[in-house]
Amino acid sequence: MIRKTRPHITQNEALLFEISSPGKKAYQLPELDVPAVDPSAALGAGNVRDQIEDFPEVSEVEAIRHFTRLSTWNYAIDLGLYPLGSCTMKYNPRVNEAVARLEGLAWAHPYQPEELSQGALEIMARLETALEEITGMDAVTLQPAAGAHGELTGLLVVRAALEARGNPRKKILIPDSAHGTNPATVAMAGYKVENVKSNDRAMVDLETLERVVDADVAGLMVTNPNTLGVFEENIARAAQILHAKGAMVYMDGANMNALMGIARPGDFGVDVMHLNLHKTFSTPHGGGGPGSGPVAVKKHLEPFLPVPRLKRAGERWAFDYDRPQSLGRVRAFYGNFGVLVRALAYILACGGPGLKAVTMDAVLNATYLRKRLEAYFDLPHSAPTLHEVVFSDDRQAKLGARNSDIAKRLIDYGFHPYTVSFPLIVHGAMMIEPTETESKQELDLFADALISIAKEIEEDPKEVTAAPHLTRTSRVDEVTAARKPVLRWRPGAAPAK
Ligand SMILES: *Cc1c(COP(=O)(O)O)cnc(C)c1O
Repeated sequence: MIRKTRPHITQNEALLFEISSPGKKAYQLPELDVPAVDPSAALGAGNVRDQIEDFPEVSEVEAIRHFTRLSTWNYAIDLGLYPLGSCTMKYNPRVNEAVARLEGLAWAHPYQPEELSQGALEIMARLETALEEITGMDAVTLQPAAGAHGELTGLLVVRAALEARGNPRKKILIPDSAHGTNPATVAMAGYKVENVKSNDRAMVDLETLERVVDADVAGLMVTNPNTLGVFEENIARAAQILHAKGAMVYMDGANMNALMGIARPGDFGVDVMHLNLHKTFSTPHGGGGPGSGPVAVKKHLEPFLPVPRLKRAGERWAFDYDRPQSLGRVRAFYGNFGVLVRALAYILACGGPGLKAVTMDAVLNATYLRKRLEAYFDLPHSAPTLHEVVFSDDRQAKLGARNSDIAKRLIDYGFHPYTVSFPLIVHGAMMIEPTETESKQELDLFADALISIAKEIEEDPKEVTAAPHLTRTSRVDEVTAARKPVLRWRPGAAPAK
């Protein structure tokens, strides 16, 4: 039996090109009240054309309905829970949007002179200070455009600092639970990746670490809590091991919504880290940006941060370019300003106690899901988890349904799937991060859906392995879909194979 929970709208949508009809327009202009000019005469015939070939011509209502209908095909955080682990797909308060759209902020131009940009500079300076406070670090740059860009900036800071000491060294250590961007960043920063195996509590093993840190190691790059949602209990001791050999600790701070207001990386030995403002600090993401990945450092790394740096010059703010040890520029201007505005609005609206409550609720929600689901799905380790939880599909796989089948069946229940097959150290990983913005009611709906799917698999896995049943297209060949996408679905056509 197929349970029809939240049926989708099932109109078949033609392409705009297909409904186009010559002469239709979606606008009306008043009659000219000035003499008409011949565009060819004014611009030169070579710069003028009568029409754009195959340009769709539709009426206003056709354009509106087309795009509105397409928008209903999407899943969105405004529709329901978005449990993608690692991504922190939280709901973003509308007030942040209102603030980012204030005329003076939305229209500020990066080439405006500094004396006319004092408000914008003050916003950035206050955000830097707030992030220093939250992380326990000494200095912050807001320039990097996303998390991975922050990682690269942070590692280049490490490289610059070690070079200034005479030797940039060769390797960065990475636990096997790392996010995929970490080893990619290490390679881009000109270092070699050396993997460190986790112990059976899903944490970095100190004995292994002690053995592998040598004079070639520039640092350890660690996500904390890691991608299993497990806090690295021995992080302070790990930092001592690295520091004793002249190496540094880079922390991937994408999971800061499990620490805010509770623990500060600067207090447990981290030298440099990045934050994902578009995860922890409430900017919508998932549609391709923009994001922001500020980098926070301890005092000894501050001289190496990218130029320019914000500084106080008497009564006003200015950009300081005179920084001889800086690694240089990493980006045009000073960051994705709209994201910075949203982050400061969010931080100020929450306040210190509010940010702590965010962390507590993120952990509570993930723990609640873990407790509700652990009788039905296998947990690969027993360590306590914080803001996300990773199950394996072992029990269901034995009955013939894999983590990707369960994810597709979730779509029939009206939910976006969890993160599938990441982190790689868990076979058949199902990574779930509910975030703090979900109510118990929504969490229960989600848990009920997964439990129901687990029962379906016990009764008849075929219902799950053929899912989704309620979408326009069911299973696609994922490789062909990526390599040779067919972007049009004709009424009556068979789903792509
Ligand atoms: C999202 C994420 C990143 C990368 O951040 P982007 O902003 O997507 O570049 C890095 N590490 C972890 C743990 C993440 O969750």
